[in-house]
Amino acid sequence: LQLANQIAAGEVIERPASVVKELVENSLDAGATQLNIRIEGSGSQLIHVRDNGAGIHPEDLPLALTRHATSKLSSSDQLSQIGSLGFRGEALPSISSVAKLTLISRQADSDCAWQLIPSENTLKPTAHPLGTTVEVRDLFFNLPARRRFLRSARTEQQHILTTLQRLALSRLDIALDCQLNGQQKMVLPAADSDSKQLQRLRKICGSRFVKDAFVIEQQRDLMQLNGWICPAIAHRAHNDIQYFFINGRVIRDRLISHAVRQAFAEQIPAGRHPAYVLYLTLPLDRVDVNVHPTKHEVRFREARLIHGLITSAIRDALRQTMP
Ligand code: ADP
Ligand code: MG
Repeated sequence: LQLANQIAAGEVIERPASVVKELVENSLDAGATQLNIRIEGSGSQLIHVRDNGAGIHPEDLPLALTRHATSKLSSSDQLSQIGSLGFRGEALPSISSVAKLTLISRQADSDCAWQLIPSENTLKPTAHPLGTTVEVRDLFFNLPARRRFLRSARTEQQHILTTLQRLALSRLDIALDCQLNGQQKMVLPAADSDSKQLQRLRKICGSRFVKDAFVIEQQRDLMQLNGWICPAIAHRAHNDIQYFFINGRVIRDRLISHAVRQAFAEQIPAGRHPAYVLYLTLPLDRVDVNVHPTKHEVRFREARLIHGLITSAIRDALRQTMP
């Protein structure tokens, strides 16, 4: 079983940033509105994520580390209707097979929190506000080969911050802060108004993007595309501002990037790079997220329809702003 978990970890947990992604996604699934993250070293020393979400019932704490024990699906019918970020029940068991994991959680109806001691599989009462803290120490301590593949602390930290930025864009309504080696690296208050959204966008994508970007909003066939696009940016550094979210999930998809590129290609002089932060919302059964363990890839029921929606929404928006 330990081996199976470590093999799964090989797919899901590539580096410290992957742990951060899985933990934050769990917090978001738990309905958290506030996340505090602490990183030490490259993240392989310590990753600490505290949330104010619904918490885990003490009886379920040991279960959370059991392979395929997800609380998010109760039948295979639901596989075609996945609204949560997690559903495979692999992340926590994978992480705990390659690191030292501490889990503390408190639910609303409980007057104390419970801490799981995985090595003894026991619980002890402890003090903790409502919600959950997951602490991951000594990542890959038992897999020296994996450890050797990690890059410098700086590079791994950069991966973590990029991951957090992506997650912070995926949910503008969530407050998130991150401390790196005791220093505040990121403070993002909940963006519950237009101006606060632009503030967050400025912090993550830069003021140039915010200045030049325009709003995109289109609805068709129960699908909705909104966000910001910025055709005018030629700066290479902005190459990276290409974010696409489907139902709140970070997605890297060929169909999507093709559609965006095509929409931009006809309108933008060669050599310029489109920058965008786009959100596609569509009924859950129109997209299959159960394609890959990292869940970055999707399969669409009606690929052509979605391709069309994206290109036409961007073209319309571009036409309105370009002379
Ligand atoms: P998955 O997210 O695919 O269900 P995970 O291994 O990531 O699987 O987590 C296992 C289970 O632990 C989740 O289904 C959830 O019930 C519980 N859990 C994990 N993290 C949290 C959290 N921060 N708050 C509440 N419950 C959590
Ligand atoms: Mg999960």
